[in-house]
Amino acid sequence: MSDCCSSSCGAITHPKRHQCPVNGQEYREVANKTILHHIKEPWSWSEKDQAYYFCDDPNCKVVYFGQDDSTIETTALRTTVGVKEQNNNSTICYCFGVSLSDANNDRKIKQFVTEKTRSGFCACEIRNPSGKCCLRDFPKQ
Ligand SMILES: [Zn+2]
Repeated sequence: MSDCCSSSCGAITHPKRHQCPVNGQEYREVANKTILHHIKEPWSWSEKDQAYYFCDDPNCKVVYFGQDDSTIETTALRTTVGVKEQNNNSTICYCFGVSLSDANNDRKIKQFVTEKTRSGFCACEIRNPSGKCCLRDFPKQ
């Protein structure tokens, strides 16, 4: 601890992946900032000083969970999580408002999103409840 001094130190004191307490699978970390943009009444959220993770299993009701195994379920969100819904109206790109059926019906959309992402015009970290780039949620074509 005593030689822990640089400003970058402390950023990696928690695991990058953690098991969802409900389905037991490991998921990636999500920024607290992302959670604040998707939960209902974020002012009532008892946010702790710990890492949080995003569970994308459509059969699991947990969306976010903490290192302490506390959970935030789909009903506690104001955003509908597309990867949890698995239907054609599910939103897959939150930055540009693309549904799964949009992406399936018009292949140009993925190209558009790819270009805009390359130009830095996406806002996945905030707008996508996973905090990650939406391109990986697009259907493979
Ligand atoms: Zn889960």
